[in-house]
Amino acid sequence: MKTLDFADLLGVLRGATADRPVLVVTHERPDGDAIGSSTAMTALLKENGIPAVLYLPGDIPDCYTTFVPADRRSSFSAAEINASFSCVMNVDASTVKRLGLGGADFSCLTIPVLTLDHHPDDEHFGQWSYVDPGASSSAEIVFRFARAAGWTISPDSATKLLLGITTDTGCFRFSNTSPAAHRAAAELIEQGADNARIIDRAYLSKPFNMAMFEAELFRTSLRTAREGAIAWFFLSPDLLRKYSVNLRNTEQLIEVLRGIEGVRVAALLKPTSSPGIFKLSLRSRDPRISVGRVARRLNGGGHEMAAGGTIFAATAEEAEAILLKHVEQEFQNEKQSG
Ligand code: 5GP
Ligand code: MN
Repeated sequence: MKTLDFADLLGVLRGATADRPVLVVTHERPDGDAIGSSTAMTALLKENGIPAVLYLPGDIPDCYTTFVPADRRSSFSAAEINASFSCVMNVDASTVKRLGLGGADFSCLTIPVLTLDHHPDDEHFGQWSYVDPGASSSAEIVFRFARAAGWTISPDSATKLLLGITTDTGCFRFSNTSPAAHRAAAELIEQGADNARIIDRAYLSKPFNMAMFEAELFRTSLRTAREGAIAWFFLSPDLLRKYSVNLRNTEQLIEVLRGIEGVRVAALLKPTSSPGIFKLSLRSRDPRISVGRVARRLNGGGHEMAAGGTIFAATAEEAEAILLKHVEQEFQNEKQSG
């Protein structure tokens, strides 16, 4: 691994040809930043004369599909990647495990893998990586890179970049909302980014079935501990089915939970297609409580205030008990150190 210099990155990307374009990838279960930064990177490369192809894992949240071009790829083998592309440009995937490669095995890749990322737990896999945990989002880093490269930024690419910055900062509310994030957003709007469309799709268009699902979830499934300082949900398959809610569209639920007065740690436990495996999302509202640390103990990682992991347990109740034990431990640590 070599720490990336933007000039080096540009040099490698410029090695692409029509026969061997750049393959742009991101992490599985892509969120707004993964989608914004990867679609923007692909569009920016093409707008600036570098052939590129986008791979995006299939499960795109419905509110973001309008920002995703139709010509994305959806499956690959490593042999096909090696034979067809000049390099792999990863944005926003911090670990090999999270990297979405359309089924291809990372260890079989022979072409360079380059990374732009903002996750503190980035593994620096691949040949080059540039990781800035101080950046609000990977989209902010792609924007910085595009500026350094002297690239033109079309209104469409500006919209995609703004989508990443807006969603990863929770619409400029979370602690990663820096002056740099605001400045980047302002410049992108000057470039023609469609801010109104982003806000409409991501924040003002909750489908009716989701609103009803949320109402029943809060009424019947909200669990708390420490007098409401810890709050969590298990998204039961029965309730999801009752309201025809797809798990890929539940990304923002945890913010509703974190927004309740008195909640210091919010958690969302989701079933997966494999029995015994539960996916976990964690948010903290208190810088003294690191959910990043909890997630690292639970087969995952992320930022200190927003993290995720995986729990292996026979039942949802058992998974909830494991979750609570680890979050409790974090509160105990706070008491000892504070
Ligand atoms: P979310 O709760 O939105 O799925 O994830 C929040 C953050 O936690 C992500 O930005 C990512 O940094 C991190 N994260 C979520 N799941 C995992 C995981 O399985 N492994 C790692 N390393 N990080 C995760
Ligand atoms: Mn991100």
